[in-house]
Amino acid sequence: MIRVVAFDLDDTLWHVDPVIIRAEQRLAEWLSTTLPGIRYERELAVQIRQDLVSADPGLAHRLTDLRQAVITQVIIRHQVDPVEASRLAGAAMAKFLAWRNEVDFFEGVLETIENLAADYQLGAITNGNANIRQTGLDRHFSFAFSAEEVGAPKPEPDLFHHALAHTGCEPQEMVYVGDDPVKDVDAANRVGLRTIWLRNDRRPGPAETTPDLIIDRIGELPDALEKLRR
Ligand SMILES: [Mg+2]
Repeated sequence: MIRVVAFDLDDTLWHVDPVIIRAEQRLAEWLSTTLPGIRYERELAVQIRQDLVSADPGLAHRLTDLRQAVITQVIIRHQVDPVEASRLAGAAMAKFLAWRNEVDFFEGVLETIENLAADYQLGAITNGNANIRQTGLDRHFSFAFSAEEVGAPKPEPDLFHHALAHTGCEPQEMVYVGDDPVKDVDAANRVGLRTIWLRNDRRPGPAETTPDLIIDRIGELPDALEKLRR
């Protein structure tokens, strides 16, 4: 019996790289408009990010805190006092999160999710900081757990345990759908979930376990779930 279908978000329901690149461009524009003379350069941001994570490794999966800290440091380097820099970085981060959630769903995602919602409880389990409300997924998703809320990113089991506790279902009653052979398929298999690997254009990865089923497009999901139910 399958009761719950949980999804990875980035690169499972949309391509994430174009979303982040576009959001970073808009962030740079917003900063230069808000604080004339400021330049948000990618190389500098990457360097600051590395320094911050070296000093506090726990920041690595707290993506929102990390990015806001990077923005703060970039602004401080433009001779803005730290309190004002922090305030501006907070405003910038709110903008960034809105842009980061302007995703282009893969073909068939919204129709498929709408159909599945009639038969299954649906939710999200993500290492990233996409938001089901801002993406509109909360129309059909009843839960979402992110690494920054829970404290440990996949492939650690914590996110899956949270979803199991929230839904009150047994591991074999939950199917996890994701694109990453290690962080999604291996990680969910180890917790005892059923797994469907959304292969997209990827070659098979160096995964230690095998998914119950492989699909190439999200539109194949309803049939795949029917197969798992038999
Ligand atoms: Mg992914």
